[in-house]
Amino acid sequence: MTEKHIDVLIVGGGPAGLAAALQLWKRGARDLLIVEREKQLGGILRQCIHDGFGLSHFGESLSGPEYAARFIDDVERLGIPYVTNTTVLSITKDRTVTTASPAGLTVCHAKAVILAMGCRERTRGALAIPGERPAGVFTAGTAQAYINLYDRMPAREAVILGSGDIGMIMARRLTLEGAHVKAVYEIMPYAAGLPRNVEQCLRDYEIPLYLSHTVTKVHGRSRVTGVTVAAVDERLQPIPGTEEFVPCDTLILSVGLIPENELSLDAGVTLDPHTRGALVDEHLMTDVDGIFAAGNVLHVHDLVDYVSKEAVRLADSAADYLAQGGLPACPLSVQCGESVGHTVPQRISGSRGVLLSLRVTRPIDSCRIVVSQNGRRIFSRKVRHAVPAEMIRFDLPARSLAPSGDLTVSAIWEGAQDAPEEARV
Ligand SMILES: Cc1cc2nc3c(=O)[nH]c(=O)nc-3n(C[C@H](O)[C@H](O)[C@H](O)COP(=O)(O)OP(=O)(O)OC[C@H]3O[C@@H](n4cnc5c(N)ncnc54)[C@H](O)[C@@H]3O)c2cc1C
Repeated sequence: MTEKHIDVLIVGGGPAGLAAALQLWKRGARDLLIVEREKQLGGILRQCIHDGFGLSHFGESLSGPEYAARFIDDVERLGIPYVTNTTVLSITKDRTVTTASPAGLTVCHAKAVILAMGCRERTRGALAIPGERPAGVFTAGTAQAYINLYDRMPAREAVILGSGDIGMIMARRLTLEGAHVKAVYEIMPYAAGLPRNVEQCLRDYEIPLYLSHTVTKVHGRSRVTGVTVAAVDERLQPIPGTEEFVPCDTLILSVGLIPENELSLDAGVTLDPHTRGALVDEHLMTDVDGIFAAGNVLHVHDLVDYVSKEAVRLADSAADYLAQGGLPACPLSVQCGESVGHTVPQRISGSRGVLLSLRVTRPIDSCRIVVSQNGRRIFSRKVRHAVPAEMIRFDLPARSLAPSGDLTVSAIWEGAQDAPEEARV
């Protein structure tokens, strides 16, 4: 076992880890290390060969590997240290990180640790779908890896459960590869993924999307032979008498992503039950001193461009932390009000402007995002069509904030009122 001391250790070499490393380097940090468990850097983007990445960050539409390559090339060119085929096994509260690789175990004592482990997909086990246990039930990401990384066709006749972005992207991908996607069934009364994916991946390929429907049983002994689907009521319970058998050889699940936080819990980091990521302050530091988080491990993002931007902000905070030996306190908490599912960060200082990210809990046409403090409305912004699939981000200016008093963020339906696009009060 080797032991070493290091300034910054970055867990995960996906878009968040790469952007954080590059920004730290720009800020003068040299004693850093990216640790990635896969054989290459790039994270989940390695298998996302469709385009649509980078529109906001680079102003052009790139494929996932192209987007990742821009960051990896810079990491290589600058000589930023990284290791692949190396898994972080544990992190302690005092930032001792144990890694395992074919060369053995290493224990690193880091001044700062950056959590950038991404997220994982929810599986059939997590949903507890009754029925037999045949082959042919995959998460959308696994099906994507089979086709895009291993050149294997996982389905001929597929049914997709859940209208998450990966499921819709896979509906299109399977169709382009010659499979027949019978339908996408979504338990909620609205699509879970981005509206652009409903258009470009389902409507353009005439793949039906059934809202308020779910799969109630999987059939087949060695391989899936079909699924039973049923309509659900407003409590999301299957409605008796609506069951229908749909023959297929594959069931693909796109039913949600879960931030990968087992290591964070080990380190004593408190998680937010809404995001299932760490509770962070405006510096993107968790409640464990010197441990920061960004990207999908912090909260599931809709666009990778925002992951990269968030990681840059994290790196700036981590650089300040190293230079100053600490960061200003963040005593004000940011709470979720009406129709808001979560906010990030959850704590702020109140002394400077801050970028807030949130998601609404239901689709709201003509909505106003309102921030209140001490019973007073300090900020409001009109959003024409708010949907849970799209993250809403806005800058809360320093001049709006009082130095004390918690904040509440709400999404308020405005009916047909004709309010200005952006208004601050
Ligand atoms: C199938 C799919 C399609 C998508 N399509 C789009 C799209 O069209 N447009 C768009 O903008 N965004 C898209 N996204 C979202 C985008 O890919 C993610 O937002 C982005 O990859 C998140 O970056 P990340 O660095 O937080 O996580 P990841 O990319 O998941 O990277 C995390 C990395 O951490 C590593 N890691 C985890 N645990 C450990 C450990 N213990 N030790 C060492 N390493 C570890 C993992 O191996 C991984 O490489 C898509 C995502 C998926 C899954």
